[in-house]
Amino acid sequence: MTKGTLFIISAPSGTGKSSLIRAFLKKKIINNVEVSVSHTTRSIRPGELDGKDYYFISIKKFKIMVKKNKFIEYAKVFNHYYGTSYTSIINKLISGKDVFLDIDWQGAQQIKKKVINSKSIFLLPPSKKELISRLKKRNQDSNFIISKRMKMVKTEISRFHKYDYIIINDDFNTSLLNIKYIILSQRLSVEYQKKHNVDLIQNLLKK
Ligand code: 5GP
Repeated sequence: MTKGTLFIISAPSGTGKSSLIRAFLKKKIINNVEVSVSHTTRSIRPGELDGKDYYFISIKKFKIMVKKNKFIEYAKVFNHYYGTSYTSIINKLISGKDVFLDIDWQGAQQIKKKVINSKSIFLLPPSKKELISRLKKRNQDSNFIISKRMKMVKTEISRFHKYDYIIINDDFNTSLLNIKYIILSQRLSVEYQKKHNVDLIQNLLKK
């Protein structure tokens, strides 16, 4: 039985998801939370580290991992494969840590089916204008990719109702707090307390 909770975080690209997750962990806003490191076949971007941001692997290796059932979920996003391996999450969850999964809506759906008590958060930009400006500021992608991403945004946003929570990422610090509240509310739930405070509850019930 795993004691930690999987928190899926998805967002249309440019919503600021990766920066939020990074800041959340760096500022240690809540203890016992870690992020899962995915495998991907896309090439490494400047500033990224293999094994920290992603495990950058070849398509051949990715397909072998799929065949060997190494992924709890995987998907093709913008022409590249991305997947969450069982090994990247299982020990963390067993030791009681909560785990962030920074994954797209396809992966979110797969996780929701497999892990009943996972919680999913969908981040939205405050406006279309702001989204386009954030995408351009990232300066990581060509104009061609940016316009391709914009087309996908509508499809992604149309799936908002599949998620448990929505955060409008307008003010960065407010979004960090909102993520904190979601995690805290899960940690206060009966479902969570039954796993973490079983001894206390049993003791209180003893004659
Ligand atoms: P990027 O290449 O910009 O880091 O990520 C592109 C998209 O792939 C983002 O929406 C991100 O959430 C998603 N992604 C990253 N890792 C995974 C994963 O392991 N599985 C799935 N399904 N999506 C992922």
